[in-house]
Amino acid sequence: KENVHDKIDYVFKVVVTGDSSVGKTQILSRFAKNEFCFDSKSTIGVEFQTRTVIINGKVIKAQIWDTAGQERYRAVTSAYYRGALGAMLVYDITKRQSFDHVARWVEELRAHADSSIVIMLIGNKGDLADQRVVHAEDAVEFAEDQGLFFSETSALSGENVESAFFKLLQEIHRVVS
Ligand code: GDP
Repeated sequence: KENVHDKIDYVFKVVVTGDSSVGKTQILSRFAKNEFCFDSKSTIGVEFQTRTVIINGKVIKAQIWDTAGQERYRAVTSAYYRGALGAMLVYDITKRQSFDHVARWVEELRAHADSSIVIMLIGNKGDLADQRVVHAEDAVEFAEDQGLFFSETSALSGENVESAFFKLLQEIHRVVS
C-alpha cells in the first residue's frame, strides 16, 4: 500500500500567536494529535508539531509552531515568524484583554512574517459560552477590516479546530500555487 506521506508536495510553516493562556498550545495539540491535555504546558520546549493533510489533491505537511510560553516575556523572536506562510491568531472569548491585544499581534505578524501571510483570527474557548465577553460580531468586523479569516473554536471539545486549520492551509495553498 502506497504511503501518501512519502510524497509531500508542500511544507507550510504556520505560527500560533496571541496572548498567553488563550489556548494556543491546546489548539495545536488538538489539531496535531487530536488531544486536549489537562496538564497544560507539558509541551514546553517543543518547537513545532506537524500534521500531514491532503488539500486539493496535494499532500501538505503543516509544520505548526508554538511559542511555548515565550509570549509572556515578549521574547517571541523574528526566527519564530521567519518563513511563516500562515498564522493562527488566538484570543479567548472570555477575556476582553486578549481580544484588545489582537491588533498588536497583527502588527507584529505584518512586521516579521512573510508579506503574503494568511492570518486566521481564532476566538477560542467557545465551550465557555456563559462566560463570553467578546461578541463574535466584533471579531467579524475586525477580521473583515484587516483582511483576516475568522472562526470561533473550542480546543476542549474540538469544535471548529480542524475546519479552521483546513481553511488556513487551503488559503495558503491558493496563495502559493
Ligand atoms: P497558551 O498559553 O495560549 O498556550 O494556552 P494553553 O493552551 O496553555 O491554555 C491555557 C488554559 O486554558 C489551560 O488551562 C487550558 O486547559 C485552557 N483551555 C485551552 N483551550 C480551552 C478551551 O477551548 N476551552 C476551555 N474551557 N479551556 C481551554
